[in-house]
Amino acid sequence: MMNKISKHIIDVKKRIAYATQNAGRPNNSVQLLGVSKKKTVAAIKQAYECGLRQFGENYVQESIEKIKEIRLDCDLENDIVWHFIGPLQSNKTRLVASHFDWVQSVDRMKIAHRLNDQRPQTFKPLNICLQVNVSEEQAKSGANLSYVLELAAQVSILPNLILRGIMAIPEKSDNLIVLQAQFNTMHALFQTLKETYPQVDTLSMGMSSDLQTAIKCGSTMVRIGTDIFGSRN
Ligand SMILES: *Cc1c(COP(=O)(O)O)cnc(C)c1O
Repeated sequence: MMNKISKHIIDVKKRIAYATQNAGRPNNSVQLLGVSKKKTVAAIKQAYECGLRQFGENYVQESIEKIKEIRLDCDLENDIVWHFIGPLQSNKTRLVASHFDWVQSVDRMKIAHRLNDQRPQTFKPLNICLQVNVSEEQAKSGANLSYVLELAAQVSILPNLILRGIMAIPEKSDNLIVLQAQFNTMHALFQTLKETYPQVDTLSMGMSSDLQTAIKCGSTMVRIGTDIFGSRN
């Protein structure tokens, strides 16, 4: 019997395919990251059984407990790719460096240095996206637009990190023009980075409410929580 989560995943995949085709982009050029913050291991397992392999988490303590439990679970092959996408404080970097495959929320050098120094030597390099404060709102996470290229240059030389791209959460707005302008700014920055860093391949933008617009503007990875797992309240 199909559960709710698998129905939701099928629906989200259809929306991604439709938006991708509409934008004249190749099939499979947009990856789906399931955002499982505040959701149970059972919910993650359901999504896994429906084929999802990439999961995003926001809270260090909560996510480490779930990752450990899932890694011990014999029903699942150990092939989940874990993305840390939440705000990261420096006293939590060690846990993140030793449990995650990606960190999408790097916005300052102090965090990058710590992740680099704390990445276990036997692990593959940690994949990094720089979080950009594209709406330039005060008190919002993310590097300022004027700082991103400098940050990219510094991150790119750290041996245990690999710079893969950029991530943003746009300003909350119902205005499509405002939203598209921010996504377009991200896309232009992504193109600039790709010219200097050939390994850069990830433009992480688009959530439940704006995935179509993000894909139209060039997103290569949408991060979907609510429309897969239901509301978090
Ligand atoms: C929670 C969250 C998402 C998912 O948001 P939904 O609107 O539930 O799809 C995506 N990205 C980040 C960084 C988040 O914190």
